[in-house]
Amino acid sequence: MPVAAVIVAAGRGVRAGGDRPKQLQTLAGKPVIQWSVDAFETHAEVSQTILVVPADDEATYRAILGDTCDIVAGGETRTDSVKAGLAACRIAEDDLVMIHDAARPGLSHGLISDLIEAAQNADGVAPALPVADALKRETGDQLTSVNRDGLYRVQTPQVFRLGLIRTALSQSDAMVDDLAAIEATKGKVLLIKGSEHLAKITYPDDLKRIETLLMSSTGTPRFGTGFDVHAFEPGDAVTLCGVSIPHDQKLSGHSDADVAWHALTDAILGAAALGDIGDHFPPSDPQWKGAASEVFLRHAVKIAAEAGWAVTSCDLTIICEAPKVKPHRDAMRDATAKITGLSLDAVSVKATTTEGLGFTGRREGIAAQASAVLTPLPTTS
Ligand code: MG
Repeated sequence: MPVAAVIVAAGRGVRAGGDRPKQLQTLAGKPVIQWSVDAFETHAEVSQTILVVPADDEATYRAILGDTCDIVAGGETRTDSVKAGLAACRIAEDDLVMIHDAARPGLSHGLISDLIEAAQNADGVAPALPVADALKRETGDQLTSVNRDGLYRVQTPQVFRLGLIRTALSQSDAMVDDLAAIEATKGKVLLIKGSEHLAKITYPDDLKRIETLLMSSTGTPRFGTGFDVHAFEPGDAVTLCGVSIPHDQKLSGHSDADVAWHALTDAILGAAALGDIGDHFPPSDPQWKGAASEVFLRHAVKIAAEAGWAVTSCDLTIICEAPKVKPHRDAMRDATAKITGLSLDAVSVKATTTEGLGFTGRREGIAAQASAVLTPLPTTS
């Protein structure tokens, strides 16, 4: 049964500080929003991910996220934005939709699976954690203790049947959360164990705190390297990191011969110990003839995620006498960031010559080396 995911990022996120809305700030090498998009997109049961963004900001988000998910414009209130997301769902009324807050980047595959399972027996399901701190209510200058027994902090994603949540939201506006709309219709609501990793980014300190929490509790990062060479043949341009650079020759190869992205694909596969590019895309297989190397890179990022790893930085070195790489460096970084889901500030592209020595010095071809750091994805605990 297909499951859709709606991520609401329509707020401007000004309370969190910084020069960008909180959902676009960098958390461990990726924009905050990308963590949630990736968690859904790489989950086997999620068939569609829809990101709801501030109206008029669709192009900004599209430029950052590439084609990784659907992007729609939000409305005035959070509920309006959720409705816009639901309207874009390509699932049946009886299928499940997960509604998630972009400001909660620590989403795990395990939790998505747990929510989907629990939703088989309820009208609405949410992750939640019991309140551990003492609670006080302030009334004028009086403080009274609030009994915390049975009180929960409710998180997202929250899961519903598409038809049911649409109807519930149409009957009520300005809800604190989507679960409240189901409660108002007397539907059956279920809470399952949430995660501290799902804490919400609201204030400036939250971003650092959640980054520390995610990075320190998920395990040790892995490092991978890749190397590739392609020879020149007659032509008029070379493709490096998806960018076509005019030149008096082209690179020969079975695919588009993007030596830089081949090296990076191998670095990612290497860090996750998932073999090499030739294992996944054999040159003998005619379906990869002339293929855009973005397919290889995208696949490496996806299977690394399925194995529990997020790419959190990469560094590329292009080795050639010509063409000049520097004028195209930012375009190459930008294209690489889009495919890998990294923030621009976590993608490095450098170039060097070999001082006329060796095959690159003799202008017989281009070599590229790459490194990638992979960090364990959030888990449910
Ligand atoms: Mg190659």
